[in-house]
Parts: sequence; C-alpha cells; structure tokens
Amino acid sequence: MTSFKAFQVSKEDDGSFTRAIVERDTSALPEGEVLIKVEHSSLNYKDALSATGNPGVTRNYPHTPGIDAAGVVESSTDASLAVGQQVIVIGFDLGMNTAGGYGEYIRVPAGWVTRLPTGLTTRDAMILGTAGFTAALCIHKLEAAGMQSDGGPVLVTGATGGVGSIAVKLLSQAGYETHAVTGKASQHGFLRDLGAAEIHDRSEFSDESSRPLMRETWGGVVDTVGGTILVNCIKALKYGQSAAACGLVSSPSIPASVFPFILRHVNLLGIDSVELPLDQKNAIWDKLATAWQIDNLDAFAEQLTLDSLSDAIDRILAGNMVGRGLVTHH
Ligand code: NDP
Repeated sequence: MTSFKAFQVSKEDDGSFTRAIVERDTSALPEGEVLIKVEHSSLNYKDALSATGNPGVTRNYPHTPGIDAAGVVESSTDASLAVGQQVIVIGFDLGMNTAGGYGEYIRVPAGWVTRLPTGLTTRDAMILGTAGFTAALCIHKLEAAGMQSDGGPVLVTGATGGVGSIAVKLLSQAGYETHAVTGKASQHGFLRDLGAAEIHDRSEFSDESSRPLMRETWGGVVDTVGGTILVNCIKALKYGQSAAACGLVSSPSIPASVFPFILRHVNLLGIDSVELPLDQKNAIWDKLATAWQIDNLDAFAEQLTLDSLSDAIDRILAGNMVGRGLVTHH
C-alpha cells in the first residue's frame, strides 16, 4: 500500500462539483493487472467534461480524471509487462469511471497498456496524449481513404486546440498544404510556426444556408468541432475526398444533406481513440515515434501541475487553451 496525491472531483449534496488535491492509497484503486506510477498526464477537453460532472463521460464521483497517463510499471501480474517498463495508457475507461492520470498511481487491465515506443519519452507521449494520438489517427484514416499531399489543401478546424495543433504540425511536416481554421486572431503566428500555409477565421465557415454544395476546395479535412463548420467543410470537399470527424466542441449535430455524398462521392470518416483495439493503438504510437515524430514537442506544451490544473480546466472549457496541457507529477 502506498499513499499518493490525486486531483479529485466530488459531487456535493446540492449537485455542484468541487475539485481538490487529496491523499489516496493504492489499495483503493480499482482491480487490474498493472499498477503504474504515473510520471505525466495531460489535459484534454474530455478531462474538463469529467471534471465538471458531464454524465456522458463520468457517472461516479468522487473521481480522479485524466484519460492519459505515461509512467513506469510498479507491479504487474501480467507476464508481458515487467516492473520498470515504461508505458502509456490512453482511452478505454481510464479517467472516465476508472481513476485516471491525475493521480500519481493508476491500476488498469494489461489490455489497456502500450509499451512506450523507442523514440518517445513519457513526457513526449503525454505532450501528444490522446489529442496528438487522435490527430495522427485522423490523418492515418484519411490517407487510408486516399488523401494525398498533391490532392489539394487539407483543412484543420479548432486548429489551436490540442488535436488541431498537432494535426496542423503532422500534416505540414508530411508535405500537405495545410489550412487552419481558428477563432483566435491572436494565435495566427503560432499556427504559421506549426506550418499552416493559410489561416481562416471561424466565421468563414458559419454559412447556415441549405446550399447543397460549395466550390470544391479541400483535399481532406480534420474536424474537431462538428456542427455547421463541419457541414461547410463537407460541402467543399473535392470529389472523392474525405473529412475525419473527431470532435464536438462547436456542436454534436451535423445539419447536413446527402448531396455532397451522392454528387461528389465524398466520405465522412468516424474517429474514436477510446475503444480502438490495442494493436491499432500501438501502430499509431509507433508511427508517432518514427516517421511522424515531431521535433520540438515542447513548442506545444503548457506545463501544468495538480495545483494549476483547475484553472486550465476552466480555460479549455472556454475554448481558450492553446496547444497541449502537460500535467507532471513531482
Ligand atoms: P481543445 O479545447 O484543446 O481544442 C478545441 C479547439 O476548438 C479550441 O482550442 C478552439 O480552437 C476551437 N473551438 C472552441 N470552441 C469552439 C466553438 N464553439 N466553435 C468552433 N470552434 C471552437 O480540445 P481538444 O483538442 O482536446 O479536443 C477537440 C475535440 O476533439 C473535443 O470535442 C474532444 O472531445 C474531441 N476528441 C475526440 C477524440 C476521439 O477519439 N474522437 C479524442 C480526442 C479529442 P480555435 O480557437 O483555434 O478555433
């Protein structure tokens, strides 16, 4: 039994949710084959939903959020995972209804655990985190559907956010002409530094008319926001190209017609990083550690601790985070 610090969210009698740093004990962690000493976690939009009582993410409180964790195996009853092994856990139920990476220890099933690939540190892995992983998964699936660097500009929405910023970087370093959609006029320099060739204000994608199609423009789309913005992206896909939909910060609705699909042969690709089978997760991590490795990942990272997490949760909910929040345990 080891006592450790954790960021905990509690539901009060009046229905409100409060946050505190508490002492916990490893004996209170859920069952699982692998106990991991967490070195780093990260802040994703979903963590903020968990921290504010969103029942689609977390039903049982008190709860320690943190859908991402990277660290070292402390004990294991699974023969394939040795004590001292560096590992990553993202998705599955971590941080949802299973105590997550905002605690200094997690205990999880072996089937959730990825070995840290050579080429990444645990810190690198958590600067990427679920957001970076999801950006890579979007591009992987778009390329499998035929996206190519000579197929026209590729658009990324929510571009200064976690998923968006890593997507801009991965696409531009892979040779795509990358366009970014942002609501943050102050962050155009950040996006240009990541490699964005053109930057579009979010308002350009607010057309709510029933116009079925727009001028063929995009060779691919990574969409993190949903709603009208996604619909306007789909209407302007080039013939036969695809949009990968991974997020809903604008809206979970898709107020669309079938015309782009039946007249332009375009595809809407679904992206889920949570239940993606472990072998497919491992393949994406391997890609991020090799061909898609990002130089200077620090450029994305805002260093957080358990003490500064609460403020950052409020900022990500307000759409005001830029890049990735890296949470480091000391
Ligand atoms: P962030 O908050 O880091 O990024 C979201 C960005 O979207 C913001 O930075 C902002 O960028 C933009 N934005 C915010 N509010 C609005 C709005 N009302 N309308 C349009 N754009 C807006 O979140 P993440 O990158 O962590 O996550 C993005 C989305 O992807 C979330 O919905 C998340 O749940 C989802 N997600 C899904 C995964 C999956 O497996 N399917 C995995 C990971 C994330 P800007 O100001 O530049 O426009």
